[in-house]
Amino acid sequence: MSDCLYHLLCLLIYPRGKTSNPYGTSKAMVEQMLTDLCKSDDDWSVALLRYFNPIGAHPSGLIGEDPKGIPNNLMPFISQVAVGKRKELSIFGSDYPTNDGTCERDYLHVMDLADGHLAALSCLDSTGVHIFNLGTGKGLSVLDMVNSFVDVTGVEIPYVFADRREGDLPAFWADASKVESELGWKANRTLDQMMEDTWRWQSNNPDGYM
Ligand code: UDP
Repeated sequence: MSDCLYHLLCLLIYPRGKTSNPYGTSKAMVEQMLTDLCKSDDDWSVALLRYFNPIGAHPSGLIGEDPKGIPNNLMPFISQVAVGKRKELSIFGSDYPTNDGTCERDYLHVMDLADGHLAALSCLDSTGVHIFNLGTGKGLSVLDMVNSFVDVTGVEIPYVFADRREGDLPAFWADASKVESELGWKANRTLDQMMEDTWRWQSNNPDGYM
């Protein structure tokens, strides 16, 4: 299928602003507000950066993710199981139309995401709305993530398959071609680095920022 046809099909199936959950709706609303702001006042310069799934931590092991209560997101949940704070990971859904039946997402290193922000500063020299997807362009399944964490750290992650989580889409990843061609940004860090840095932070700080 040609790229053009593929994009056309995506727009028809998932038109911009059509969301699958309240969190997505809130993001779409903010995009719309900032887009309208730029339409109504051409002094404004706005960069809309669409984060895909940032994970990992600062390589020093000093700055990382410390969710309050039970983590909603996959990576902090895995690392809290690894450190013994949670008994097992529940994998939400095993019958999605993906290679292994679990959902696929586009995970990128949080340090690449930070670099994406620096790269985006240059586009603010010109007015209007500048929209960029920050992701690797590749989808990985929940089981890929669990297996990668175990391979890199050597720590077992017990898991069970649970019901699907409401609002989850089976698979999505970024088309990051525009950000690369216009800003020269690309997510360069590897999945192994994401796992190593997550584990360095979590194992050094089992209770987060205490
Ligand atoms: N997920 C899971 N168990 C968890 C947390 C997340 O199976 O305890 C799955 C979730 O259903 C999704 C993927 O992991 O398919 C990524 O979830 P996350 O919340 O990190 O990102 P999002 O769904 O917001 O892209």
